[in-house]
Amino acid sequence: MKIPSEYVGRSTWEKVLNHIALSEEPSPYLLIDKDIIRDKVSLIGKNIKNSKVLYAVKANPDIEVLEFLNSIGIGFEIASEGELQILASLGVEPTRIITSNPVKTLKFLKQAASYGVNYYAYDSTSEVEKLAKYVCGSNVYVRLSVPNEGSEWPLSKKFGVEIDEAAELLLTAKDSGLNPVGITFHVGSQCNNIYNWNTAILKAKSLWDIAAKNGLHLKMLNIGGGYPIHYTKDVVGIETIEQKVDAILWQKLPADLEIFMEPGRAVVGDAGVFVSTVIGKTRRGDENWLYIDVGVFTGLMESISGIKYTYVVGSRGKIATWTIAGPSCDSLDVIDRGVKLPEPEIGNRILILSSGAYTISYASEFNGFSIPRVFLI
Ligand SMILES: *Cc1c(COP(=O)(O)O)cnc(C)c1O
Repeated sequence: MKIPSEYVGRSTWEKVLNHIALSEEPSPYLLIDKDIIRDKVSLIGKNIKNSKVLYAVKANPDIEVLEFLNSIGIGFEIASEGELQILASLGVEPTRIITSNPVKTLKFLKQAASYGVNYYAYDSTSEVEKLAKYVCGSNVYVRLSVPNEGSEWPLSKKFGVEIDEAAELLLTAKDSGLNPVGITFHVGSQCNNIYNWNTAILKAKSLWDIAAKNGLHLKMLNIGGGYPIHYTKDVVGIETIEQKVDAILWQKLPADLEIFMEPGRAVVGDAGVFVSTVIGKTRRGDENWLYIDVGVFTGLMESISGIKYTYVVGSRGKIATWTIAGPSCDSLDVIDRGVKLPEPEIGNRILILSSGAYTISYASEFNGFSIPRVFLI
């Protein structure tokens, strides 16, 4: 196969081809290049002063991925008892764990409390009551609603409150025996619109001021996740985003503010290559259909909501335009349309690039297909 050099580096490509050549694992499976993760982790946060990076575990909770991230000293953002249990099994200290899920189950809250997690997000009075009951005295931070325009995976409608309500929630938390320390937001996942961070920080600044007027001196701003990765289109670089974010942060907010960040996709996304096999092809009407052994239900869930992947096949056949579908019998299991690829043969490999994030974590065993295994390379 020819190296698609704008998407993957030579060393990743060599490792992928080597693994495929030597592995007896039947496809589909996901390869994760540790070197890419290490590079991304050293890049993220580098250009933002006072920052602390907490990996959003939901992007890829594979135990070996988490073990590797733990070994390079990153923190973690979790949302459930399942995510907590994996980190506990790796011995991750509670001081390196936060939870930014604004609505937590009681089961999770109790387990997080007994493990010693000390940072909790919220955005409602009912959550304040839960937090006051189960994690009294803990550090809490309020989720502000911010624009998600230009993000491939907007999150703003489900969570977050406007400035006035956020200010009240901070005061309510204090009155309830909690320790309100800060503000959080999420600009939307795969966010290619640098202005979202700008707007979000200005909103956070307004909230910070109102809180200060009411005698609350907040110490932390959690700027969430959202850094984009390269799927099929060029995206704004992490360095560029961080330089802009850093500039506006310290223009507006006090110099001793602690910055948390929770990247998920950007840490693991482009470290992943799905190895899959062509299992069928046919012509239906005027469409060429290609069926492969990984699908919407076994990892490529984000494809149905706008993420477009890059595919590589080893074939030297004639270029055609394909509709690519997964192996299940559900009509939702169509991964992509209008994909130009050389015509492969049944049994040929098809590689799916930048597939390390939000793939395995979404996979189910629907229709009897196993969840693909993950291998670190
Ligand atoms: C999912 C999530 C993240 C990670 O977002 P990415 O876009 O993958 O970087 C961070 N914080 C919270 C609260 C999340 O829910």
